[in-house]
Amino acid sequence: MRTDPNCLFCKIIAGEIPSEKVYQDEVITAFRDINPVAPTHILIVPNKHIPDNNAFSEEDKPIAGQLFTAVRQLAEQEGIAEDGYRLIMNTGPHGHQEVMHMHLHLIGGKSMQHPMG
Ligand code: AMP
Ligand code: ZN
Repeated sequence: MRTDPNCLFCKIIAGEIPSEKVYQDEVITAFRDINPVAPTHILIVPNKHIPDNNAFSEEDKPIAGQLFTAVRQLAEQEGIAEDGYRLIMNTGPHGHQEVMHMHLHLIGGKSMQHPMG
């Protein structure tokens, strides 16, 4: 499994930096965002260090299935499945990605701003 010793999220996955984990298996980890923008704000990340979606390779395909299955399960667990939620994956400077370990934001518990952008 590829990890980066200087990566914040790799350290969270390994338990070297504290976080409020809500799910973890051998492929993915989910934990609460330290600066939530809504009542539910969970980050879902591959355990493998993949910097961003541009670095997502053919061999990583099964990880995408795990991420989206976790989204469904966590949304149910958080009680936001029925009202809905927003999924965001920021990529690169235009996407304002700050942490270079790819992650899905699962945000819900209130109505989101519309339109986006
Ligand atoms: P992005 O701008 O998409 O890269 O989002 C990075 C997210 O990581 C932000 O929403 C931060 O609040 C969140 N974040 C930064 N440090 C931590 C941390 N130690 N634990 C949990 N979330 C964090
Ligand atoms: Zn990492």
